[in-house]
Amino acid sequence: MKDEIAACYSGRLPIVSSYTAHFGEEPCLSGTRGAGNIFFGNCNLRCVYCQNYQISQTWKTQRKNEITVERLAEMMLELEQRGCHNIGFVSPTHFAPQMARAILLATEQGLDLPIIYNTNAYDSVEVLRLLEGLVDVYLPDLKYADSAAGFTYSKVRDYAHFARLAIKEMHRQMGSELVFDADGLLQRGLLIRLLVLPNDIADLEANLRWIRDELSPKTAISLMAQYYATNKAATDDRYILLSRRISEREWFEAVSLINELGMEEGFMQEYESASHYYRPDFTDSEEPFRDIRDFK
Ligand code: SF4
Repeated sequence: MKDEIAACYSGRLPIVSSYTAHFGEEPCLSGTRGAGNIFFGNCNLRCVYCQNYQISQTWKTQRKNEITVERLAEMMLELEQRGCHNIGFVSPTHFAPQMARAILLATEQGLDLPIIYNTNAYDSVEVLRLLEGLVDVYLPDLKYADSAAGFTYSKVRDYAHFARLAIKEMHRQMGSELVFDADGLLQRGLLIRLLVLPNDIADLEANLRWIRDELSPKTAISLMAQYYATNKAATDDRYILLSRRISEREWFEAVSLINELGMEEGFMQEYESASHYYRPDFTDSEEPFRDIRDFK
């Protein structure tokens, strides 16, 4: 591994902005003691609406958070000692090799928790194949059905093409079944997050149709209402279509699509409690998710 900076502004050493017990994930991940999230610094995308842009798009600041792989393994063990139900790597794509090495080190030292790979889905199939057997739960965002939107709002090419290939590979590894333990905590599987954007920038219907037709209607989804305008979406007129929260009407249209298209498994946020919940410092224990079967 060369010590050089690539498009993600990240080098040989992993960058960790924070690691903490997190209570804002889906209930099967947060449980009662929290998901053990490790937030990597920097990102391979540049979303103009990134809610964590202070972490993902400040590479000069983030360099001070470089750590060794050994330290990363220690963080995982600390989260386990604190009682977290799993280890959730957030934005891991650009640090996948370092993450894999740390998982091996921590496992040698006794780590025994599910590993969650929480990604924007702009991953390479080649790397995902190498992660088979290391990752227990894939938690990808499927951001856009149209690559033009991916270029405009996240500054990457062919997003839809590559994200679909990546999620297909995740599905090949995991299938559509979610495996839970006796306490209802997720141990293994694929859960696809779909963030509803204002003006349907993501094209939710096309994303749902693709999941249903190319994977399965039983593939679990997590429909998210938490969008709010921040970063450039809040200040730059070029992104005016993303400059507001979603309306209640847009949310209920999204929820209706799940029923219309026959999706069978997953979760959805509560519209009222969703905003501002997904942050590294989120500690509220309020339950912001519902099972989608409750709405059928
Ligand atoms: S992929 Fe996620 S973390 Fe990365 S810039 Fe986009 S919203 Fe931020």
